[in-house]
Order: sequence, then structure tokens, then C-alpha cells
Amino acid sequence: RELVQQQFEDLRSTCTAGSGILLPGEEVVSYYPPEMEARAEEFGLAGTNVDGTQWQVGDCDVRFPLHSISKVFTYGVALEDNGLTETLRRVGVEPSGDPFNSITFDQAGNRPFNPMINAGALVAANLVQGATKEERAGRLLERNRLFTGNPSLEIDQDVLDEQLVSNDRNLGLCYLMRSLGMLHGDIDDTLYVYLAACSITVTAPELSAMGATLAHGGVNPLTGERALPSEHLRTVVSVMSMCGMYDAAGEWAHDVGIPAKSGVSGGIMGVLPRWFGLGVYSPGLDRHGNSVRGVAVCRELSSRFGLHVFADP
Ligand code: GLN
Repeated sequence: RELVQQQFEDLRSTCTAGSGILLPGEEVVSYYPPEMEARAEEFGLAGTNVDGTQWQVGDCDVRFPLHSISKVFTYGVALEDNGLTETLRRVGVEPSGDPFNSITFDQAGNRPFNPMINAGALVAANLVQGATKEERAGRLLERNRLFTGNPSLEIDQDVLDEQLVSNDRNLGLCYLMRSLGMLHGDIDDTLYVYLAACSITVTAPELSAMGATLAHGGVNPLTGERALPSEHLRTVVSVMSMCGMYDAAGEWAHDVGIPAKSGVSGGIMGVLPRWFGLGVYSPGLDRHGNSVRGVAVCRELSSRFGLHVFADP
């Protein structure tokens, strides 16, 4: 355990070298929320083993919105509420090779490619059941609480409000999808449910616990509570592993080889099945919308510990 902790410390210094300046190619997302720009230097790295052991280094108390990482858990609830067949009818499981906010659909033109890009995640949010938008968002929050093991996890109202008034692209995407019969019902409600999940804030250790829950068959190793029915685990993790890093997913699978999901607030959740979950946070983003230091540290971690799922040990 100490050895891993030492390695984590070392990884932090390696991957944040030149502190005070952004790494080459690094830029910070300016809209979710704008104050992230001032937080570009923050860096947190945490791991949770399936036996409940945890490691952490750096800014592990800092909370940040899940943003796109929430798509993994929203998809899980969509599967739970609608079953695999109906969910597959509405959203595919193919990597798109497109950026997260792309306006493209699968070849038959009747489904978004996958639930890890915005179009597919909006359909997944559309599939989440509940009498009101607040109830549907509340159900997602509850599920995310199970994944983190933190019963006081919250939706950051400021982050949500900000997104609700600056979301033309997602709004446009919803209208287009409804006109094509891919999405049904009230668009403001769907957008609210999707963005509420994006606005749930976590710490890097909580993110690692979410990853560990997926690594542990859907059962949170810290609480022993089930967060995802086991029949949907395979679908959620396989889609995430193919599509979780947007249009850098192929490069990531090749270079890092850890199933993972990123978000525009600089978080990356990694899942090593039956082993452990990783949570990384650093807001400087590359052109794909992935955390620069997050990608760097995962690359380094994968090679030092031989974590690539397909590498010969
Ligand atoms: N809330 C963001 C959006 O919908 C999430 C995007 C992301 O993290 N890539 O645009």
C-alpha cells in the first residue's frame, strides 16, 4: 500500500511538472463553470480498490461537476428503467469517432451512435422514468450517491442554472432528435434531467469509488450496496470503454488501455475490472475535451503498473 502511495506522489510531481504554467496544448474549458479557468493548476488523483482500500494524492477535497462522466450512470438508469432491448432501440453502442457534442446519427439515421456523447446521453436522460423532471433528476442523484457511497452528494445549483441558460447546442440537438422521432416529450424536462446529472459534484476519491463500483460488479466496495443491477454492468462498462474518451477513444484504448470516461470539468474515471477504480481531476483540457494532466497521469500509471487490459503481463 505504501509503495502505491509513493508512486502516486511521484506521479503527481511527474505529471504536474512546470506547475504555474499550463502544459503545451492545454486549455481550460471556459463555460462550465467559468471559474474553472482559475483552477487550472488543481490536480487530484485517487484510487479505490475492490477490497475498499483507497489511495489519494493532491487536491482530493476539491469538488467538481461530473459533466460527461454522468453519462455512464444516466445510461445505467435508462437500462434499468427500460431494459436492454428498448434502450438499444433508442441509442446504439457504436463508437462514433466524433466530438462529444457532434450532431450525427447512426447509418439508419434513427439513433444516436452511443450514450457517451451528448446526443445519446440526452436520449438516455429522456428514458429515465419519473413523474416530474425533479423526480427524475432526484433518481439519478440517488443512484450517483450509491456509486460514490456518499449519501450527501448534491447537484450544484449554480452549475445547473448556468448550463440551463447557455445550452443552445444541446437544445438544438434535442429539437432535431424529437423531429426525427428519436426523443419524445418535453424537451426542457429532458435537458433538465441531463444537465442536473452533469451538475452533480464529486471529489477525486469519490470518482474513484464510482469506478471501483463498476470494477466490483456494480456493488460499492465501501458500503457493500448495489448501485447497478449486475445484468447491465457488461453493457455499461463495454460502451464506456469504447466511447468514453470521445474522439480520442481509440488512441486512449491503445496507449492507456484502461476503460475510462472523461468530462469537461477535467475529471477522468477509470475502471480496472475486478481490481480497482481511478479518479483523476485536473481542469486543463486538450482539444478533445479530455484533461491534459489526467490523460498524462493515466498513461504513466498504466505503463508503470502494467495496467493496460490487453498488454502481455
Ligand atoms: N454538460 C456538458 C454538455 O452537455 C457535458 C459535456 C462534457 O463533459 N463533454 O455539454
